[in-house]
Amino acid sequence: MPETLSRKILLALSSIEEQEVWKTLLSSFEIATAQDGPECLEKYTSFSPSLILVDLMLPKMHGIEILRRLRNQKTSAGIILIADQPMIQAYEASKKLKVDGFLVRPVTKELLRETCELYFSGHLKLSPLSLETKHSDGGHCYIPKIHHPDTYLKFWGTRGSSAVAGADYMRYGGNSSCLEIRAGDDLIIIDAGTGIRPLGELLISSKARKIHLFLGHTHWDHITGFPFFSPIYDPEVRLSIWAPVGFELDTRELLVKMLAAAFFPVRLEDIRARIEFHDLRDSEQVSIGDLTIAAHYAYHPGATLCFRITRGKQSVGYVTDNEFLCGYHGHPAAIDYSHPLLQPYQSQIEFLKHVDLLVHEAQYTPFEYQERVGWGHSSISNASILVKHTQARDWIVTHHDPKHTDLQLSKKLQLHRDILEDCHIECRVMMAHDGLHIPF
Ligand SMILES: [Zn+2]
Ligand SMILES: [Zn+2]
Repeated sequence: MPETLSRKILLALSSIEEQEVWKTLLSSFEIATAQDGPECLEKYTSFSPSLILVDLMLPKMHGIEILRRLRNQKTSAGIILIADQPMIQAYEASKKLKVDGFLVRPVTKELLRETCELYFSGHLKLSPLSLETKHSDGGHCYIPKIHHPDTYLKFWGTRGSSAVAGADYMRYGGNSSCLEIRAGDDLIIIDAGTGIRPLGELLISSKARKIHLFLGHTHWDHITGFPFFSPIYDPEVRLSIWAPVGFELDTRELLVKMLAAAFFPVRLEDIRARIEFHDLRDSEQVSIGDLTIAAHYAYHPGATLCFRITRGKQSVGYVTDNEFLCGYHGHPAAIDYSHPLLQPYQSQIEFLKHVDLLVHEAQYTPFEYQERVGWGHSSISNASILVKHTQARDWIVTHHDPKHTDLQLSKKLQLHRDILEDCHIECRVMMAHDGLHIPF
């Protein structure tokens, strides 16, 4: 570079603070500044610098564009790009455009002065790009503290009434009710709908030996997966089945009938796992390791229970089949806690009060519910009343109607949100889908 160069530098940096510091560091030069792309081009013309230091991500115009424009104008000024990160693509592009220097922050005062002096003495050469970043992390990688990574809920079946399959059910899935609850080695399964079949395959490969299966009730959508649950054929498995006391048959008798020769080739006595049957009644609770599972009546045809699962301070309500506020079609906001219609349901509300997460069905839209009173399932608006009074922070909707396709469920999700907003209920809502995994 000829020694006749005027010692004029244009600093086009996005940070005013940095600009001020660099101005001081380069006080042996005549300095002009610009804060964005258009101002940089304007100052280039009015100030005629010999060297321009340009921020790669200068507001309004990228440093590469400025470099290209100045090169197209056949500028004789030197151009040094200043980058926040060692971006290889930007480096290669600027190299092609004959950039004079490419500095990656942090730029020390020594490096800044030396680079400028080298340019003015004609000795500056473009250095290879180092991909090493100069952050003050001491070379350590942040490893977050993880609490109980093996404690979770996993939805294996989220469909109610009947399993479904086909292209219209790809997103939410089609298996009927099944939930896995894990806390380390402790394993609880609620419901044995068709979702229990793939869960069983996983348990066989993971060699789970002690399994607790809770049945909220024994309608088909909650038991049809049982004969296909592979762990029952493993002699080393101990399976405890907890179910409500049925009106006509106890759970054992019911499964014996279900496994009659006309329906299935294996008898209950041929099943090799050790099975223990336990009756479960309203207001009872069972402790399994760190988990406690409590039961309460649900409003549904036949003996039906819903559950509250607690682990430490965390609690989840799980209610797949519950016709809350049977026959009510009015505005949810009209039902305050002391409303006479709510009286029969207060015990259930108290049972589920303040759960961190409420898993509750809402099988019908308010319009559909007008034709479905007494079928044992809630409308979205009536389920919202329960959500409001339990003060749950999060609501996961499960037990989807088999007629509701993916598209309809997506629209239904918006309807849930609209109803919650209309009723000023502060609760996040999402749709369960087969495979949904929630840390617990
Ligand atoms: Zn059901
Ligand atoms: Zn049912």
